[in-house]
Amino acid sequence: MSATPPIITIDGPAGSGKGTIASMVAKKLAWHLLDSGAIYRIAAYAALQNHMDLSDERGLVQLIQGLNMEFSGEQVLCDGEDVSLAIRTPECAEATSKISALPAVRAALLERQRSFHKLPGLVADGRDMGTVVFPDASVKIFLTASPSVRAERRYNQLRQQGISASIGQLEREINIRDERDSNRPVAPLKPATDAWVIDSSYLSPNDVLEQILHRLR
Ligand code: C5P
Repeated sequence: MSATPPIITIDGPAGSGKGTIASMVAKKLAWHLLDSGAIYRIAAYAALQNHMDLSDERGLVQLIQGLNMEFSGEQVLCDGEDVSLAIRTPECAEATSKISALPAVRAALLERQRSFHKLPGLVADGRDMGTVVFPDASVKIFLTASPSVRAERRYNQLRQQGISASIGQLEREINIRDERDSNRPVAPLKPATDAWVIDSSYLSPNDVLEQILHRLR
């Protein structure tokens, strides 16, 4: 009988720090990491490159089925092209939020996400990891932070990547994205009923990591 690898899900809104925390936890445990946002972002990037109508569900599914996505550390490849930075722009984030509201797009990306579930374990970062993709996860975390803190974090993150942006504009975009992600009928952004909610507004990444490891112990 083979053991089912354990899963920790970390869901939350944009800029809550879940990407940073998920990668810290995965590194600490030496588990696999799923950045599900990157998967949605690659799909949106490819749709933008192909000048597709972002509401054309059927066309998008066809496009997604033909995409080859590869992940290696921080690097993200789409059909062999390094798109690590291109998928992080505000334009791509906006397009991602639009296409991810479409049920057929979500269904088309489900198995790709589940394929990351391997030994010795998985840390899965996203919006619906604990509610839809891995509902049987051993530990579920919902990480949040105030919109202004989240905008500031995104601003710093983009600056480090050499992408310019305005904090006010980022906060407005984050609020729009949250609104759309939270109110979509399929897999809305919300804590699983058995999730542990952490507000990271006034916590450092190390504080959050410690809280999570403490709970795991
Ligand atoms: O996490 P990240 O900011 O990279 O996600 C980008 C967008 O992808 C989100 O705003 C959301 O619309 C979508 N997404 C999703 N479900 C996930 C992960 C991301 O709908 N599990």
